Amino acid sequence: MEQEPILNEHNLAESESKANPICFAEPKQGHELNAHNKQEYPPMHTAEHILNQTMVRMFGCPRSRNAHIEKKKSKCDYLLPEAPTEEQVQAIEDKVNEVIDRHLDVKVEYVDRDHIPPEVDLSKLPTDASETLRLVRIGDYDICACAGDHVANTCEIPHFKIISHDWNEGTWRVRFRLVES
Ligand SMILES: [Zn+2]
Repeated sequence: MEQEPILNEHNLAESESKANPICFAEPKQGHELNAHNKQEYPPMHTAEHILNQTMVRMFGCPRSRNAHIEKKKSKCDYLLPEAPTEEQVQAIEDKVNEVIDRHLDVKVEYVDRDHIPPEVDLSKLPTDASETLRLVRIGDYDICACAGDHVANTCEIPHFKIISHDWNEGTWRVRFRLVES
């Protein structure tokens, strides 16, 4: 069901990671991106998916609708009625890293609008989105509709580090980096 042009390297990496818990996958280079996501760095963008799902699970809030994802530093905004405590912020960071460390495969699948799994949040989709949706699944942890570029396995993502955060009038802004640990 994948349509990325580079498949051999990807599949090899997957079979190796299944046979051996140590992952050898390299970040994929040079395949086609849509215009919107050209600037997004796949490990950072995939971490954003994991952070979004973590926020949904921990706080019941929507996925971030205002995110700036860059290679060095990113930020996401979440709608929260009050500021998370420092313990909760640490728990968010820990959970994202726990998911990264599970070395989950990231899979792309295509479904038509009549067969969208109920857990997919469609509220971010543009109204002119095509009838066929591209879904991105991170193991059994997250699924969402996304046209962007992702790693093949979460083992390609360095560790997730929250560098600052603030809350103002119902919006919590979190800034983060990816760091080698
Ligand atoms: Zn994505």
